[in-house]
Amino acid sequence: MSTVTSTEHSTYVGRFAPSPTGELHQGSLLTALVSYLEAKQQAGKWLVRMEDLDPPREQAGAAAAILRSLEAHGLTWDEQVLFQSSRNAAYAETFHCLDQRQLTFACTCTRQRMIDLQGVYDGHCRNQLPTNPSQASAIRLKVNSNIIEHTDLYQGFQQQELQRNLGDFIIRRRDGLCAYQLAVVVDDIFQGITHVVRGSDLLDSTPRQLFIFDTLNAPRPSYAHVPIIVGHDGQKLSKQNLAEPLNDKLSAANLMGVLRLLQMNPPEDLAANHNDDILNWAIQHWRSDYIPNQLKFKQNDKMAKR
Ligand code: GLU
Ligand code: ZN
Repeated sequence: MSTVTSTEHSTYVGRFAPSPTGELHQGSLLTALVSYLEAKQQAGKWLVRMEDLDPPREQAGAAAAILRSLEAHGLTWDEQVLFQSSRNAAYAETFHCLDQRQLTFACTCTRQRMIDLQGVYDGHCRNQLPTNPSQASAIRLKVNSNIIEHTDLYQGFQQQELQRNLGDFIIRRRDGLCAYQLAVVVDDIFQGITHVVRGSDLLDSTPRQLFIFDTLNAPRPSYAHVPIIVGHDGQKLSKQNLAEPLNDKLSAANLMGVLRLLQMNPPEDLAANHNDDILNWAIQHWRSDYIPNQLKFKQNDKMAKR
């Protein structure tokens, strides 16, 4: 099949948005690959955004290692990588605009108070007078009682009432950093993302993000949440539970392993081909309805280890 090269007139813009908290592992490769296949099958663009928003959680060198690893697996992106660490001015502008519209307020509630509230913010600081500016405060976005609905491409119909389930939520952290929920939307808008394909651990965040899109009068992208690979402990595959970094030298075997996990049944002899041929085969044969509901990580899987 011919390689998709022209993306000029595409209407599909997808992305992979890793956080540099560790190197690429089997789980993140699977998410990257699914978002890539969806975009390429629609002759769309596939962008990469490095979510290096939270320096304390970063691992030195991880951002560069992730990009190297994506390239080694033939997953090349269509525009310059966007680094969230370069986007502070855009986030500040959005805070300012929401603040002008009186949609935000400073919150000085303690961590203990939030624990007592069991995760649903009660609006305590909404109508307080501005506090002593020297006191560190988070910024929350006011929510309302609208029911946020959307149909996820893989997970089906979803709905949530933010006010009842969550309350006003944080868009700027007490330490001054932009919260993930806001940064992701500001950047999805900036990059013109039309389709978000990511791990199902973020399904819960989607209503908050849709609410921000609506509040900023920006068109919503569509969402598809890929079941995440779970380890033996039933937890998301992560550095803490056996998610070993991928060995880039075994990229063809890694790709084949992920295609098998996706139940795509790739022909065995495909493994001897160049990564581009493996990817082209996958683009041609991709069907999201193959995705098993729960992807289990098997330690003895043929996944190549370092
Ligand atoms: N940076 C997030 C993560 O690595 C993904 C954010 C997103 O895809 O919206 O889990
Ligand atoms: Zn508060």
